[in-house]
Amino acid sequence: MSKLTISCGDITRLAVDAIVNAANCSLLGGGGVDGAIHRAAGKQLFEECLRLNGCATGQSKVTQGYLLPAKHVIHTVGPIWRGGQENEAELLASCYRTALDIAKELNLKTVAFPNISTGAYHFPKELAAEIAVKTILEHPFDGEVRMCTFSPEDQAIYQSALNQAKKSV
Ligand code: ADP
Repeated sequence: MSKLTISCGDITRLAVDAIVNAANCSLLGGGGVDGAIHRAAGKQLFEECLRLNGCATGQSKVTQGYLLPAKHVIHTVGPIWRGGQENEAELLASCYRTALDIAKELNLKTVAFPNISTGAYHFPKELAAEIAVKTILEHPFDGEVRMCTFSPEDQAIYQSALNQAKKSV
């Protein structure tokens, strides 16, 4: 079981083995956390992303971190919320699983996630938090995982999901 903690701050500042990017299918940058990561990592990140030929929703691909304090960026493509009948929950869980699988494969020990799909992609926050926490706790990754929220309100939502999940273990 992974060790999971919830924190609040700018994910681009974290000196971890990998930060996860809430990317879009093109992997060529966008707004929100994606834009922040590309700005902080520099144009070499964009150049490496160009060579990856995009990524399907629910899947993940890895690059170096370049100018970031993090060694790697694991780009994952969260689902756009369309009301809940289009496999959104499973696709979101798959983002966390496939990102952790890459971390495991590369023997990375510290991984930080943003709140995937809860910004421009409009996934309901409480449900996204429940899925994130449950999937991370259940996944066989032998390292430390940090959920890096971006506001105290989001931090409270993910912390409460974690407390809830621990009660039911
Ligand atoms: P998505 O398209 O997957 O919804 P967004 O980037 O729009 O992705 O939002 C995902 C989450 O990332 C939101 O909770 C947003 O507040 C958060 N976020 C934005 N910038 C940062 C940052 N620099 N560090 C951590 N989280 C961030």
